[in-house]
Amino acid sequence: MGNRIVFATGNKDKMKEIRMILADLGVEIVSMKEAGIDIDIVEDGSTFEENATIKAKAIARLTDDIVLADDSGLEIDYLNKEPGIYSARYEGTDTPYSIKNNKILERLKGVPDERRTARFVCAIAAVFPDGTAETVRGTIEGIIGHESAGENGFGYDPIFYLPEYGCTTGQLEPDKKNELSHRGVALRAIRPIIERKLG
Ligand code: IMP
Repeated sequence: MGNRIVFATGNKDKMKEIRMILADLGVEIVSMKEAGIDIDIVEDGSTFEENATIKAKAIARLTDDIVLADDSGLEIDYLNKEPGIYSARYEGTDTPYSIKNNKILERLKGVPDERRTARFVCAIAAVFPDGTAETVRGTIEGIIGHESAGENGFGYDPIFYLPEYGCTTGQLEPDKKNELSHRGVALRAIRPIIERKLG
């Protein structure tokens, strides 16, 4: 069994969050780059779980370590769960989020709160050196706000409103967002699965 976990991301904030949540597993956690792996992976699955598994399996072919990969996005019920797995690509990959978010606000103009329900979804896939694979899903439920608010976070955070907190995820302190977020929920769900494998 490999004695490291390779996480399929180049994102420093994600690595920080992952290291925090998986800290006491007693296993070294490295990014793809730190593991010396540099490949382009075509995410052509039709669900978050499929895409996470595609990424994890592609990397698992190149290492003996445990591999984790995630795939996440925003599902808006009124838009038939758009942008979903296409969240990063919505309205163009290089389009600023201020424009993507305004486009969504425009499409939901006049829609009452009870029909503005949405969730962030995060699937995490783990592939183990024995060839087995597992996936978990974490979500956070909210509604699409009526305007952008907040400088924290990234992506769709300024328009993702949490009624019970009275603010958007873009207005939450980073620690609080990590505690509540879809990624945090999924990471805490994958933890016992890894623990069991490590014995
Ligand atoms: P990734 O799979 O983690 O790279 O996320 C795909 C896309 O989903 C991101 O580029 C964002 O558009 C969106 N997204 C995922 N998680 C979040 C979040 O926590 N806040 C805001 N947007 C997010």
